[in-house]
Amino acid sequence: MMIPLASLPARVSVREVGPRDGLQNEDLVLSTAQKITLINALNATGLALIEVGSFVHPRHVPQMADTAEVFAQIERRPQVVYSAIAPNLKGAERAIAARADSVQVFLSTSESHNQSNVNMSIAQSLTAAADIASTLARAKIEFEAVLSVVFGCPFEGDVPFERVAEIAERLVAMGAAQITLGDTTGMAHPRLVQQVVLGLRERFPQVPLRLHPHSARGAGLANVLAALEVGIERIDASIGGIGGCPFAPGAPGNICTEDVVHMLHEMGIATGLHLPRLVECAQLVEQLLGHEVPGQVIKGGICGHIADGNPRHWPPSSVSVGA
Ligand code: ZN
Repeated sequence: MMIPLASLPARVSVREVGPRDGLQNEDLVLSTAQKITLINALNATGLALIEVGSFVHPRHVPQMADTAEVFAQIERRPQVVYSAIAPNLKGAERAIAARADSVQVFLSTSESHNQSNVNMSIAQSLTAAADIASTLARAKIEFEAVLSVVFGCPFEGDVPFERVAEIAERLVAMGAAQITLGDTTGMAHPRLVQQVVLGLRERFPQVPLRLHPHSARGAGLANVLAALEVGIERIDASIGGIGGCPFAPGAPGNICTEDVVHMLHEMGIATGLHLPRLVECAQLVEQLLGHEVPGQVIKGGICGHIADGNPRHWPPSSVSVGA
């Protein structure tokens, strides 16, 4: 019997966010030299996108205080886009000075989370985003938008889709090259992911969407699969699954890079990433942080048939089941 499978993309772009989202949620603050060691090791895994850090006020996020120094000292590979997050114009100017290749503006889709995160109302953040967008345009640097708590807010619960769409629309009008949908505290589930993605695609089909899943409640990889089924080809992940969630102590943070790459390669979906080297990077992270990482492949090992790190060959659209 032939059972048709949902159509999935042949290739997925993975952005590594461990040096920013991962490390900023770790108790231990790595030294500048340790961060550089990690990013230089990530350079050798085939990643095309690495989020280096963020230009927020060091009082808010002391783990990111040395982002400019990290940018200055990492080995830059021409094929890799090294990005940074900036919540305001000052941050964007610092990102430009540090020669970030791409800058992400982030704002929350819930008023209380935006206040606690960047100390501004959503309206103030949108005004700041417009200033940042024009400053980046002058500097010829790509402007991207990251929306937080799209699938649920730890303070307000459900986030109305209309609000998400309205904020996204404003950012698209400012020239955002991509909209990242952040499941900041791991409240998404597969049906909600599909609903939001399809709803936004209807509003602006021309703007690429990226999923930024967190695993705080264990649904991270399921959400990735759900997103792929509705055409998402861009995801964020963190090496070793480092990070965490300030609202769920002990919970893992972002989905784990080597785990999601392992799953994708098993499914025959290419990422361009070298899986064994990613696992080595996760081992390096364990050494640097001095504790185990939440990732699973580092413990279970890479399945034998993809030990070279390449995707498994799959029949493209169907699989035979039974006799
Ligand atoms: Zn995140």
